[in-house]
Amino acid sequence: MNEREILCELEKLYPQAAPALHFNSTYELLVAVILSAQCTDERVNKVTAELFKEYNTPQKMLTLSQQELEKRIFSCGFYRNKAAHILSASRDIIEKFGGQVPADHAALKTLAGVGQKTANVVYAVAFGGDAIAVDTHVFRVSNRLGLAHATTPEKTELQLNAAIPKDMWSRAHHWLIFHGRRVCHSQRPDCANCTLKTWCEYYNGR
Ligand code: SF4
Repeated sequence: MNEREILCELEKLYPQAAPALHFNSTYELLVAVILSAQCTDERVNKVTAELFKEYNTPQKMLTLSQQELEKRIFSCGFYRNKAAHILSASRDIIEKFGGQVPADHAALKTLAGVGQKTANVVYAVAFGGDAIAVDTHVFRVSNRLGLAHATTPEKTELQLNAAIPKDMWSRAHHWLIFHGRRVCHSQRPDCANCTLKTWCEYYNGR
């Protein structure tokens, strides 16, 4: 296995890798990540740029009705579910967690709309926890490279946790996303210009 070389190269390629979502607080990050399901970060950033001008705390968010919030987040897709989740999570943050997004991974997952991936992103980005959130890019790129050999995001996360040193998990998550966006596209990956091809199982037909 070539984990070490692959991780070194990814770090060299994307030393500044960071979340593409815009946020100014843990609550804003949580809402942005909920909105980003099945939606591009660019679209979410456009929507939250307006939404967070007035509704950037759980208290303020709860002044919106379900329908009012749906109108504001409509273009992110799945707007009914997302609006319901954001309002429900906001209510729980106030009633169960003293108005603060909980820093505990298990507690995060009790919030509406927060599954393993969302909890991992918030836990890692907002609280400095070690976690690899497996989104579509992380899933595709890590399995192509051979860092994982799995058919589900859940199994991929477990295998990446085993293959990558824990203190690199959060950064590796961002590196894999950047590589998926810039080079290892879902359709027609740019293997000719990829500096990881020496080690890549997909490229080498392994
Ligand atoms: S060689 Fe091709 S498939 Fe492998 S990581 Fe690079 S772009 Fe992706």
